[in-house]
Amino acid sequence: MSDNKIEHGSLDSFTGELFDELFASGTAGSGVSQEIIDEMTNKLDILKQTELTQSIIDFFLQLLELRRKQGILLSDLGLSYDDLVTIAKRHEEIDEHGVTVGGRINRALPIVEAANERVKDYLQQKDTEAPSGIELWDSILDNKKRIMKELNMSEEDWNSYNGQLKYAINSVDTLSRVLDLPSSAIKDVLRVTKSYRMRLTPYYASLIQPGKINDPVLIQSVPTGEMVDNVGEEIPPVAADHSPARLIDQFYPRVVSVKSTNMCAMYCTHCLRIAHIGKKDNIYRKEAYREALDYIRNNTFIRDVLVTGGDAFVLPNDMIKFLLDELDSIDHITVKRLGTRIPVTAPMRIDDELLDILGKSNDKKPIRVVTQINTAQEITPVSREAFRKLSSVSMTVMNQAVLLKGINDTRVKMWKLCETIHEAYVRPYYVFNCSYRNAQFAHLRVPVEIGRDIIESMYGNISGDAIPRYICTAGGKVPMHRDNVIGQKDSAVVLRKPWSGEEVDYPDADPEIYRKTDFAFAGYKD
Ligand SMILES: *Cc1c(COP(=O)(O)O)cnc(C)c1O
Ligand code: SF4
Repeated sequence: MSDNKIEHGSLDSFTGELFDELFASGTAGSGVSQEIIDEMTNKLDILKQTELTQSIIDFFLQLLELRRKQGILLSDLGLSYDDLVTIAKRHEEIDEHGVTVGGRINRALPIVEAANERVKDYLQQKDTEAPSGIELWDSILDNKKRIMKELNMSEEDWNSYNGQLKYAINSVDTLSRVLDLPSSAIKDVLRVTKSYRMRLTPYYASLIQPGKINDPVLIQSVPTGEMVDNVGEEIPPVAADHSPARLIDQFYPRVVSVKSTNMCAMYCTHCLRIAHIGKKDNIYRKEAYREALDYIRNNTFIRDVLVTGGDAFVLPNDMIKFLLDELDSIDHITVKRLGTRIPVTAPMRIDDELLDILGKSNDKKPIRVVTQINTAQEITPVSREAFRKLSSVSMTVMNQAVLLKGINDTRVKMWKLCETIHEAYVRPYYVFNCSYRNAQFAHLRVPVEIGRDIIESMYGNISGDAIPRYICTAGGKVPMHRDNVIGQKDSAVVLRKPWSGEEVDYPDADPEIYRKTDFAFAGYKD
């Protein structure tokens, strides 16, 4: 093609390439029917007046196809170079952004097609490998009916938070009535619950898919023998060396957390705070909250207070209101967070009174609700509705997922989790590599590198605000993302695009210009 290159004058280089292909000399193929010749001539006439870019693109695509598949030359069709330039120019004219025929056909469309390849298998597998609670809703409703009957619950019990707590599954006896587990597993639950707590709300239990051996909701909520059999050194709980005041954990100068309760509606088998959760529910004394608030009030460095637990929404509404009012009255506290899993474990808790309290406090200073959702299966129409309401009375709802074996440790499962929560008004915030501190859940840990590959696979493939940061807790939250800056070339840094591996030179700011102090308005001398 290079020896008969045509000078394309006013055409851009992409359209030039397209014309090179269309006008390359060659031997005519199977011959063209008069029908096609007439069709193309008629189309050309219409296109000279068209207002639609797509019709011009379709015309060129048809020419390319005739050329590529049947070897048909433009001269065979009786089309002239000038005619094609006219309609190529027409495309550029009517397109709002001046996109050319060549740019669209030879660049943009192939780029989209190549990009689609990156997500094809995900789209095929997502609903079977990682069904959401919305997709499983019919079968969850069947489970609900069965569990209600087994526990003698009324619809009213089911729909109230008190009912969910009253009928919570916290004994081996009820567990074995509600879930069909192997008898050896039941025996182990008995053994493990001597050391650790178990409590499933009937609602959370209804998310478990019967017959699925390692159902991702089941292994988060029902303990197995590994929890006591895993060997490992017991590392003292974080509170031992990071608690400068009663109820307070502090890693950072400006952010503290208040462990406001040791209770949760459901106890997770992978709980990082398992030592703090202990073996029984404790009601904290008013003095404890007072001392924690005094510490916050007297430390003017602190800006952001995270009220957590346990689960902050286990606290009664008037207690939540008290804590928020106190925090709102402290000048140096400018933003707040509440940590809770209740929207997924007992969404009935999110009542109008609570929403009103949150909304009023949020109007004073922003509240973020921080939750923990580890699998798309935890998002049902009910939890989605709870998150919708919470997001309407807060600055944002953010998710801190824990990377867990069998639950979210594949690309498909993690993408599905992030997209599903995103569609349920929740923003993926962190993915924790499951901690080494507690041997209890060593069997659920996932290697650092696997998590890194999964999180990096999201860049360029799902919305940026649905991509979490990958971290571990090691005396504060430490980021674990791979460094995408892989080198330096003259004054540019070399970056790697996570989705294609392609390297791009990114010219850096000129250090000399950066060092100048007499810039912007400082540059005016008089
Ligand atoms: C998670 C956490 C925080 C908040 O960390 P961010 O990175 O700001 O989300 C603060 N204190 C404790 C003890 C925490 O566990
Ligand atoms: S909700 Fe949080 S604090 Fe409560 S058991 Fe689960 S991980 Fe632990």
